[in-house]
Amino acid sequence: MAQLTGKTALVTGSTSGIGMGIARALAAQGANIILNGFGDPAAIEAERAGIAKDNGVEVVYDGADMTKAVEIEALFANAAKLGGVDILVNNAGVQHVSPIEEFPPEKWDLIIGLNLTSAFHTTRLAFPGMKAKKWGRIVNIASAHALVASPFKSAYVAAKHGLLGFTKTIALEGATSGITCNAICPGYVKTPLVEKQIPDTAKARGMTEEQVIRDVILAAQPTKQFVTVEQVAALATFLCSDAAAQINGAPLSIDGGWVAE
Ligand code: NAD
Repeated sequence: MAQLTGKTALVTGSTSGIGMGIARALAAQGANIILNGFGDPAAIEAERAGIAKDNGVEVVYDGADMTKAVEIEALFANAAKLGGVDILVNNAGVQHVSPIEEFPPEKWDLIIGLNLTSAFHTTRLAFPGMKAKKWGRIVNIASAHALVASPFKSAYVAAKHGLLGFTKTIALEGATSGITCNAICPGYVKTPLVEKQIPDTAKARGMTEEQVIRDVILAAQPTKQFVTVEQVAALATFLCSDAAAQINGAPLSIDGGWVAE
């Protein structure tokens, strides 16, 4: 029997990139999935149906905007009908790259709201059910930028450092209830989020896009390779296993050696 059979996993921002990879990997271990995120309705429905069929699990889609507390509350009310959220993956996130003098205040609010505050709302709503079941897994998709900074990413670095602090606090609060909370800290993964920031970084640093990939992105990673979605998904799945029951409050780097430098 797959090790997560009977569990329900909410993966925020799972219509693309890392979140979609994690949703697929958890479903392959037997978990029922709540997909979330924006995108083309037909493509999302095809993904939903595909994951359900390939793995013989239940997959539902909830398009809640994770910057809006009322929509997150409605998502959890719907999740209660599926037996509640046993595995919470706080993954939805956006980036904006610009010098601090030009950083648009609305982008600061969006990044803090989505990359940090949404994890507060989902966690406060998931916790009672996890405590009652004496089992829960919270996996926060942080970043190497939860541990180190880069210029021109003030809001993102602040949000991800905040998410790591939040992770440690929740790890302590859930420790005697069978709940773990950890932060995965990936380096660069080639997803739409990274592809979109290449032109902005080129502008902020006065470089070509090719120079940004070579001298900024891959220069940060001693392996000179991108991390893959599948590698991050495998780590997230491991954190949901019984073998990981004593990993709690940890930042788990998966960055080709970036933060070792
Ligand atoms: P992505 O752009 O491919 O996916 C982002 C997802 O978030 C999409 O499904 C999108 O629809 C969803 N989303 C955006 N706004 C939303 C909102 N308001 N409500 C609900 N969903 C929303 O990006 P990704 O690279 O897969 O990033 C996923 C997470 O991984 C983010 O938290 C990001 O910070 C983190 N991360 C990414 C990298 C990387 O190099 N790609 C590195 C470290 C950390």
